[in-house]
Amino acid sequence: MNTATNPVTVLGLGQMGHALAAAFLRAGHPTTVWNRTLAKADDLVAQGATLAATPADATGLVVICVSDHHAVRSVLDALGDAGRAVVNLTSVTPTHAREFATKVNQRGAYLDGGILAVPDAVGTADAALVLSGPRAVYDEHEATLATLGAGLHVGDDPGLSATHEQAGLLLMWSMLNGFLNGAAILGASGVPAAASVPFAKMMIDSVADWLPRYADQIDRGTYPADDGTIDTHLVSMANVVEESEALGVPTELSGLIKALAERASAAGHGGSGYPALVEQFGKS
Ligand code: NAP
Repeated sequence: MNTATNPVTVLGLGQMGHALAAAFLRAGHPTTVWNRTLAKADDLVAQGATLAATPADATGLVVICVSDHHAVRSVLDALGDAGRAVVNLTSVTPTHAREFATKVNQRGAYLDGGILAVPDAVGTADAALVLSGPRAVYDEHEATLATLGAGLHVGDDPGLSATHEQAGLLLMWSMLNGFLNGAAILGASGVPAAASVPFAKMMIDSVADWLPRYADQIDRGTYPADDGTIDTHLVSMANVVEESEALGVPTELSGLIKALAERASAAGHGGSGYPALVEQFGKS
């Protein structure tokens, strides 16, 4: 079946919504677009999209991508209850996702999702969607949604994609903040950030390799010190804080990292492996 003939509607044409609509158009889907500020649709209409005067004019699979849950709620209200399949790709909380699913499911079908990509990557191999909601609905629309990026269905509960998205965003922000804090230390030492990139990429690759083993330890609640203890890490953490203070680089992040490890050590995990720190984030 040529799924590129499936009609789609994109509601919300900000940076991301515009990229979603453009990817559908490139793939040949009959694409309807709507945005609160209609002028943002002009170039898409010039490329062949149909402009909807209101969300109620949507046809086919409806993709919503707006700024927040307030905007999603208002778009869903304007969409009406014509029994459509709706995929919300706006970042919302799991609670909001479940609220929207309850509303849409009275007549139609609802999937909630997060976009793991920047707008320029949408429609390329570098984009992925994490989606949740009824498996049968996902299966029905999987090929159409694959136009935007690789799909990963994480469960029937519509709130689960937002939970996964939040965990992923925490990981992304933590990595980026570590990189930026490191860049500040390097900069204060006269080293450009660009010089750190090869080493930084090696570190990220190494950490990525550790994740399956660490996740297994977290799920089992056992933290063998098979690759260095928390107390060993603490020595290096103290070095980073000491050097930051000497360079005049703020220590909020490095100090927090050290404080968490100190708390884990004081709780009896000084000789445990690094994943024991998960208990400092509330998992016992
Ligand atoms: P954006 O450029 O700020 O666009 C926001 C969109 O929401 C605009 O179309 C805006 O319409 C619309 N909007 C705001 N309030 C509205 C309301 N009350 N009713 C109807 N429409 C309303 O944001 P974005 O970057 O596209 O982000 C959209 C979503 O994608 C967010 O959840 C974001 O987390 C997610 N996302 C973005 C990226 C990224 O790199 N940009 C990456 C991954 C995920 P107007 O044009 O009329 O203001």
